[in-house]
Amino acid sequence: MLIDTHAHIMFPEFDEDRKDVIERAMDAGLERIVCVGCGAASSEAAVKMAKEDKDGFLYATVGLHPYDAMDVTDGLLAEWEKWIVADKESGARKIIAIGETGLDYFKSKVDPEKQKFSFKKHIELAVKMGLPVIVHNRSADEDCLGLLKEFSRGGELYKKIVQDCGCDGENMIEPVKAVFHCYGSTLEFARKVWEAGFMTSFTGIITYPSAKELREVVKEVPLDKFMVETDCPYLAPQGHRGKRNEPSYVVETAEKIAEVKGMGLSDVEKQVMENTKKFFGF
Ligand SMILES: [Zn+2]
Repeated sequence: MLIDTHAHIMFPEFDEDRKDVIERAMDAGLERIVCVGCGAASSEAAVKMAKEDKDGFLYATVGLHPYDAMDVTDGLLAEWEKWIVADKESGARKIIAIGETGLDYFKSKVDPEKQKFSFKKHIELAVKMGLPVIVHNRSADEDCLGLLKEFSRGGELYKKIVQDCGCDGENMIEPVKAVFHCYGSTLEFARKVWEAGFMTSFTGIITYPSAKELREVVKEVPLDKFMVETDCPYLAPQGHRGKRNEPSYVVETAEKIAEVKGMGLSDVEKQVMENTKKFFGF
């Protein structure tokens, strides 16, 4: 059993055969798929898909990718907050994280200050709602980690949120939980991420012959600090490289982790499931 913790199956790339894609994921032994929003429209689509799914197989997140950080408004965040509260009250618990959000100093055309503003707003919402954060980080290692640390228990922004809500931080709000999705930075930075208590999640990139440095990260990752994902439709693993990626292929990433860490596949799966359920509160 595995969970694809980061899939964009609401994208138009899956319009033709979404049902088959989901079925293949079930056949491949996946237990769940987390449909990750990365803009206002795709977040809405992810939530709709998760709500309509009656098998307890699809879950959703809401967020703005750093490419779309300029779209952040109080109105949008308030709307998401309403959705999350209603979802919790209904007992469905289908909206399970905030993101993907984060910082991208490599490709995003949005001004870094605006990106930081959006990232902060997302973390704030996550802390308030007691949900974890899915972080996209590209060429922004220290700023990403720094911001998350401010929101961790004892950090300045964390204290401010507790004060603003007038609630008892010890009982009512979780310190921020976060995953560096599609981990792609150095081993040295990964150590800092783990030390701060955050998770790393691996995609099919670790199966690419050129990804030697990343496999060093996999080799060293503590057993309780990793999850797996596809980031589909992008980044198909080596066995399907160049094609559209889909959730069932996440097995290939787990197999590579088993190989690199010298573990049995079933032990990796067991560990991944434990980590994933703890992280998302399944
Ligand atoms: Zn993504």
